[in-house]
Amino acid sequence: MLSIDARLTCLLFSHKSDTVRCMEDLMQKIISLAKRRGFVFPSSEIYGGVEALYDYGPLGALMKQNIKTQWFKRFVQQREEVVPIETSILMSPKVWQASGHEANFTDPLIECKSCHARFRADHMMDGRFKGQGEAREANQCPSCGDRDFTETKQFNLMFQTFLGPVQDKANATYLRPETAQGMFMDFAMVQETMRKKLPFGIAQAGKSFRNEITTGNFLFRTREFDIAEIEFFVKPGEDEKWFKYWLKEWWRFFLDMGLKEKNMRWYEHPKESLAHYSKRTVDIEYRFPFGWGELAGIANRTDFDVKAHAEYSGQDLRYTDPETKEKYYPFVIEPTMGVDRLFLALLLDAYEEIKGARTKTTEASKEVETVLKLKLFLAPVQVAVLPLVKNKPELVQKAREVFEMLKKEFVCQYDEVGAIGRRYRRQDEIGTFFAATIDFDTLKDDTVTLRDRDTMEQERIATPNLVDTIRETLHAKDN
Ligand SMILES: [Zn+2]
Repeated sequence: MLSIDARLTCLLFSHKSDTVRCMEDLMQKIISLAKRRGFVFPSSEIYGGVEALYDYGPLGALMKQNIKTQWFKRFVQQREEVVPIETSILMSPKVWQASGHEANFTDPLIECKSCHARFRADHMMDGRFKGQGEAREANQCPSCGDRDFTETKQFNLMFQTFLGPVQDKANATYLRPETAQGMFMDFAMVQETMRKKLPFGIAQAGKSFRNEITTGNFLFRTREFDIAEIEFFVKPGEDEKWFKYWLKEWWRFFLDMGLKEKNMRWYEHPKESLAHYSKRTVDIEYRFPFGWGELAGIANRTDFDVKAHAEYSGQDLRYTDPETKEKYYPFVIEPTMGVDRLFLALLLDAYEEIKGARTKTTEASKEVETVLKLKLFLAPVQVAVLPLVKNKPELVQKAREVFEMLKKEFVCQYDEVGAIGRRYRRQDEIGTFFAATIDFDTLKDDTVTLRDRDTMEQERIATPNLVDTIRETLHAKDN
């Protein structure tokens, strides 16, 4: 729950300006809404939960799928030069030797000498734990308050496991910490089978795993997460041009998904902090309630990975230029994003509270209304089908017919419980874009009211035109 400090901050801000959001408060509201309405649950909750692991509930699973679908539509389906792939999560351990992850994919770790709690050394130094638990100052253990730590050692973030029944070094491998390596290894096969010429891209969305030392901030830093990324292979020398191209494409994608531009910014990594494979990396950061954090990035991975796999495997993975017959390793531009982080950012930006309620009935006017203003193509439920009352069989029967018709085309929810105003608000809270209400006029003239989530305008639509009307709106708001 909210700390006293956070509550005080809320109070201080709230009378300064209505537009100043109380950020910590907002995060708590999102976590609470996510759990209450079936977007995100803590994993293994009946056993007390596991830190930094979450389950996507029914609405969360739908919304996350919508995010991935939009990404896929824009960057794969609508482009001739990008093809999809789904590579395995477990791979030969040689992959991680070649990629440098076994040697370099580490974070600095320190251990408290009194209670043996472990922390990221850089996070301890920068005072991140100050004010948490027993840590009144920086460099103090939040678990016990002690200030004596072991020397820093490097901790590899990959989860180790074993292939087959024998648990020895020869059979050890890792859960992938990124989706990219599968695409580098299959580069030559994709190029050949799909008859691709440079530049072309391979796209993949899937699970990755990192045994983070410091976790937290809800979905921001978890140990299991979804990455969606493209490895875009280009001719060496053209890499900077394509890097700039992807910067623009990537930024526009997040705006079109509904993020507010004022909550986005660029972060260019200084040369000395670049990953071992990168020539240039630029992140897109989002203003999360706890501060700016990485949402997505573009990296120029040069020819590091493909070349490394060629050397380690002894296979010729060079590209042959069809015109000049010249053989070379392509450079790679990698636009990548954390799907879970985008999911969280979209919820934060979509969340709106309306004090005094939008509906001016006496019952509702004292309440705070919550509307999740997600883009129509991201909303977990597109249409709610609501019979005005549930105790009139002919009305219910008609409503069921409308539901049967609509659910063939859209994700729908049938709801007959409670007063109609209350049902509207329940749908607003989860971002449902349309509510189709079946009332007594429906029985007379075969029209239903279609209510728009954002304007609350209600239009009477002839039942046979309902699918087309909704589909047209959906397409108009898509892309
Ligand atoms: Zn301690």
